[in-house]
Amino acid sequence: MKAISELLPKPPQGHEQGPEKQANPEYRLPYKIPEAAARAMQSHNDSGKRAAILALFHDPHSARYCDNCGGGGLIYIRLLERGPFRDPPNSGKKPIAWVEEGGKSSQGWYIVASTLAFECQICNNINSYQK
Ligand SMILES: [Zn+2]
Repeated sequence: MKAISELLPKPPQGHEQGPEKQANPEYRLPYKIPEAAARAMQSHNDSGKRAAILALFHDPHSARYCDNCGGGGLIYIRLLERGPFRDPPNSGKKPIAWVEEGGKSSQGWYIVASTLAFECQICNNINSYQK
């Protein structure tokens, strides 16, 4: 059994150094993962399978920017069935996805067991009026 902290991405470099370091839009991993998401990854990991955190689009100039989720309000994790494959696998009807590094997964194509969304804990309060 691995510690949850081992499954989580490292905080982005320069995160504490202010927005001028984050001026360019880019895909980034969230630095704060909801506890429920970490638990789901942990139990999937304990069953011998890999899980990945999705990198999210960050545009610091957008009106509702959040430095954790990019402003979409959700953190996504993918529970992976099999992989990584160098080429897109023939998975029948199951979805496949290209996974960059995130959590304990290696880069490559994977057959996806499920994709789960969790509310971002950093901007949840700001965006909750939209529900
Ligand atoms: Zn957020």
